[in-house]
Amino acid sequence: MRPFQYSRPSSTPEAMLEVRNILAAGSLSSASFLAGGTTLLDLMKLDVVRPDRIIDLGALASEFGAVRRDGSSLRLGAFAKMAEVAAHPDVTAEYPVIAESLRLAASAQLRNMASLGGNVLQRTRCAYFRNPSWEACNKRTPGSGCAARDGANRMHAVLGTSEDCIATYPGDFAQALLALDASVAIIGPRGNRTIAFASLHRRPDATPHVETSLEPGEIIAEFIVPAAAWTRRSLYLKIRDRQSYEFAVASVAVGLDLDDGMVREARIALGGLATVPWRAQEAEDALQGRPLTEEAARAAALVAFRGAVRQSHNAFKITIGQAALVRALLQAASMEIR
Ligand SMILES: Cc1cc2nc3c(=O)[nH]c(=O)nc-3n(C[C@H](O)[C@H](O)[C@H](O)COP(=O)(O)OP(=O)(O)OC[C@H]3O[C@@H](n4cnc5c(N)ncnc54)[C@H](O)[C@@H]3O)c2cc1C
Ligand code: SF4
Repeated sequence: MRPFQYSRPSSTPEAMLEVRNILAAGSLSSASFLAGGTTLLDLMKLDVVRPDRIIDLGALASEFGAVRRDGSSLRLGAFAKMAEVAAHPDVTAEYPVIAESLRLAASAQLRNMASLGGNVLQRTRCAYFRNPSWEACNKRTPGSGCAARDGANRMHAVLGTSEDCIATYPGDFAQALLALDASVAIIGPRGNRTIAFASLHRRPDATPHVETSLEPGEIIAEFIVPAAAWTRRSLYLKIRDRQSYEFAVASVAVGLDLDDGMVREARIALGGLATVPWRAQEAEDALQGRPLTEEAARAAALVAFRGAVRQSHNAFKITIGQAALVRALLQAASMEIR
């Protein structure tokens, strides 16, 4: 392990003061935030990331570590632990897609340690990215190439890919937030702001190393999930290579607002299939105003993958993704809502 400086600010103002000082000294690019550490320390041990300075934000859990209601919205603190939010009674009863996306992610030990903010900001599991002995990885070293294009790309993305990167976004919870039209409350050295969750992750395009729209030194404080007609009739379906803890081969977050079997509104996000959490807007539109039959679900699934680009080893992901979407829609339609 390489040496690094460590600090643990006790509050948000203290953290921001530290960030502003580092920003003024021009060394923010070599600093990194730490929450649960389950991604960051992993990548440091692999020598993929090499921060000179770690700012441990764990103490901010006293400000942003809870689930709370704010008018009609649900606010999820970014430093809340995945396990706590997955078991929260308000979340399990009214936002089952959130509870399931967290419960089906990682292992019990990881969920007890890992935070919501760290979860949405986790890095790809692309094996070439995670192993610096491979030189060609545009995400790790801009301009170096992409070893996965001609390599082992079974788990890589079929949606949102670019010439420069085909790595899959690996998380589960992000799809639930995306399907539910959540937003992100951000605290930064130049002020606070709130953005749509849909604009947090950036597609790789020609700059795969730029993964989010966060500015230097910005901290995610909360996720805000609006109340809507489709939150109760919602679920997360995850297909993985084994039933114990494993990343998704394909996953679907669905929320439905039904009127006597007819779709008033559908909300769909796909995971394990795209370079970013992927909203299937055209599939949602294809369902609107139609009875939710198997035929309608299959038609929507075809639409969702119309722009898919397969690699040498991952064409099966299109088939599995479509099947997962059909199954998720039919299961959501048959949910008993109290
Ligand atoms: C073996 C294994 C299996 C896993 N399986 C799954 C799975 O199936 N599904 C899944 O979704 N995840 C899975 N994960 C990933 C795991 O859920 C994440 O590692 C975890 O959620 C990250 O949270 P953390 O608090 O530990 O983040 P950290 O490691 O502390 O931080 C991660 C990144 O986010 C930044 N960061 C953290 N919090 C903030 C914040 N509030 N504001 C700004 N920046 C911040 C950090 O600087 C760092 O870059 C797995 C991980 C492992 C090791
Ligand atoms: S897919 Fe992306 S992360 Fe993987 S090797 Fe290519 S550039 Fe790197």
